[in-house]
Amino acid sequence: MGSAKKSKTVKPTSLERVAAILMELRKAYPDVVCALNHKNAWELTVATILSAQCTDVRVNLVTPALFKAFPTPKAMAAASLPELEELVRTTGFFRNKAKNIQGAARVVVENFGGKVPQTMEEILTLPGVARKTGNVVLGSFYGIAVGVVVDTHVLRLSKRLELTKHTQPIPVERDLVKILPQDRWIQFSHELIHHGRAICVARKPRCVDCTLEYLCNAADKTWSSH
Ligand code: SF4
Repeated sequence: MGSAKKSKTVKPTSLERVAAILMELRKAYPDVVCALNHKNAWELTVATILSAQCTDVRVNLVTPALFKAFPTPKAMAAASLPELEELVRTTGFFRNKAKNIQGAARVVVENFGGKVPQTMEEILTLPGVARKTGNVVLGSFYGIAVGVVVDTHVLRLSKRLELTKHTQPIPVERDLVKILPQDRWIQFSHELIHHGRAICVARKPRCVDCTLEYLCNAADKTWSSH
């Protein structure tokens, strides 16, 4: 635990405290990977677009049939929109999502030779792709750390752990890249997402079971040792 245990006297974003949080997360989730099933960068791009306002479990139920029907960006670019809508219907906002994945397929085919590009600037030109999806694909698939994935869990936990005072993804990401070492940007998100699902849940965080508890001074803790 080290001296970071006396978290009330330590600046929340101090090197020492951040290092202790990173160490605990790595210990708790040593082999954590992206929960969206995928075989290539294109599948991960589509799965991440579909995961907006939807659980990864639901997306994983939908993508096998989707990629069986339309296995490549070229096939998806030429698909009938109603057919795509039907295949992604249960992920919610299906009209928009179908339009976006088809639009993304067309941009990938027409501008990038059928391959998902490997820079944030280029990947952001795909319809339906914002920084979160860009970071997921670049980080989880290509292993390129250009930022930190900020989803609903990373947003909530970063705030609870006082790693940021912001509440919107872009400024939160800006704060995180300042305080986290770059070689932890990719894994940190995976770990925090798992922690947010398993322990630090939105309504009643399970603080009594939390390995970060000794470092945490969140106002809505349900149990505290200090
Ligand atoms: S102690 Fe509670 S609020 Fe803090 S990170 Fe752990 S589960 Fe979340």
